[in-house]
Amino acid sequence: MKYIFVTGGVVSSLGKGLAAAALGTLLQHRGLKVIMQKFDPYLNVDPGTMSPFQHGEVYVLSDGAETDLDLGHYERFTDCVLSRANNVTSGQVYETILAKERRGDYLGKTVQVIPHVTDEIKGRIQRLEKEQGGDVTITEIGGTTGDIEGLPFLEAIRQFQLEVGPENVVIMHVTLVPYIKAAGELKTKPSQQSIAKLREIGLQPHVLLCRTEKPLDLEVRQKLALFCNVPLHAVVEVRDVDHTIYELPLTLQHERLDDTICRLLRLETPPAEMNDWRRFVQRVISPKKRLKVAVVGKYIDLQDAYKSIYESLTHAGAANDCGIDILRIDSEDIQGHDPHKFLEPVAGILVPGGFGERGVEGKIAACRYAREQRLPYLGLCLGMQIACIEFARNVCGLKHANSTEFDESATDPVICLLENQREVRKKGASMRLGSWPTHIMPGTLAEKVYGARQITERHRHRYEYNMKYRELMEAKGFVIAGTSPDGRLAELVELRDHPWFLACQYHPEFLSKPNLPHPLFRGFIGACLANYE
Ligand code: GLN
Repeated sequence: MKYIFVTGGVVSSLGKGLAAAALGTLLQHRGLKVIMQKFDPYLNVDPGTMSPFQHGEVYVLSDGAETDLDLGHYERFTDCVLSRANNVTSGQVYETILAKERRGDYLGKTVQVIPHVTDEIKGRIQRLEKEQGGDVTITEIGGTTGDIEGLPFLEAIRQFQLEVGPENVVIMHVTLVPYIKAAGELKTKPSQQSIAKLREIGLQPHVLLCRTEKPLDLEVRQKLALFCNVPLHAVVEVRDVDHTIYELPLTLQHERLDDTICRLLRLETPPAEMNDWRRFVQRVISPKKRLKVAVVGKYIDLQDAYKSIYESLTHAGAANDCGIDILRIDSEDIQGHDPHKFLEPVAGILVPGGFGERGVEGKIAACRYAREQRLPYLGLCLGMQIACIEFARNVCGLKHANSTEFDESATDPVICLLENQREVRKKGASMRLGSWPTHIMPGTLAEKVYGARQITERHRHRYEYNMKYRELMEAKGFVIAGTSPDGRLAELVELRDHPWFLACQYHPEFLSKPNLPHPLFRGFIGACLANYE
């Protein structure tokens, strides 16, 4: 087994997760079985309780784990099947250790960061490898070198390297080489300093991934190699990709990163054959058509809050040979205004998931617009609940229809708490999470779009459609197109008299891949195109 650890220096947001995922793509295309893992040094047990403002999207795995959005990159860039064990936080590590301590497993001993915390961290790498079996494990360490929280992880890697043999470990450090306009120069000092920080802990990176706006000339590369103590060919330039993040594996291949790493790890494999990937990138970069799609949500200003949705739209666009211009609309802006002003130029409307009351009325207005203007509508999770409320209010005349999430004493609670949520008091990992099956009704649009009657999708919600309203709403043209196998939970809804209106209680965005777009997104973009032409 070989191990690659990805660390980050200078600043956050350098795209460490993407770099790790793109390396995973390359190694997988060299015929290697790759395991991807992320260490997050924060003390939350998982990101499930953090606000999107803090953390961006919470990515849900099929086993129901709420994880860091980098795991989304891992699943999209590789064939890895990820589980709870692929995202380790300090919170989890300490939770385990404290439970052991209370049980008496350490009886008589002082429990310390070294060796107890570091042993637990090393154990998490080895257990994963036993469970998932592969040739290479790529482990990304969240945060930036120098963070106090990160130290136990780096110390664990230092020990691990000695235990498994240094020839089996590569440390890849992602760093920033900033361009200083006033000097007209690229500066290597921040990288030197962040690597000095790593060396203090006893880690010497083997490869430097240098994020930079300008090309690294030979002189800069030589300087980085000398001061950071790596061979010249291990200084890898990563300029901002021009068009799409999916170019990154090709950029890294061009810089021969995979050759360098395979040589260091003595992995003998043929070169990566990236034609399928290149074709996908080509379709993203130069599509035949373009269209505008609105995403109406409340975290519109955050780059990362709807990451998987934006990626899924890109995949679906590529499959339809169509570039997607996403119009990000803050639902609070629509509230109380004519939605036409905002939505007139778009070919379709997507309402994503969300929590809390803020902006809900704007989403309802957007959904109504899609229904009345016969524009394709895709509702995801809260986006489905919105569709139910909108239809109940504006078609069925239930003026006060609402979700009890927003109005606990709603007279018509068309959306209410899942039965088994009523007694739930704790907030962490307590929603309906992970993969659950859905049965699709014959003759529905959903059946056509999926080409299947049985599907499995990932969930993350507490509230559900109230089946007491089913008869009334179906009589008016609302269709519960998919339910849980016992028929009790509505999973998919559509409208009888609308060209393309589909909304689901689950999150299809977690299953879309570059060359395997999710049927709902693909169908949605197909319908938008049909509408446009
Ligand atoms: N807030 C809603 C619920 O908990 C929707 C959740 C979501 O969109 N992920 O059911």
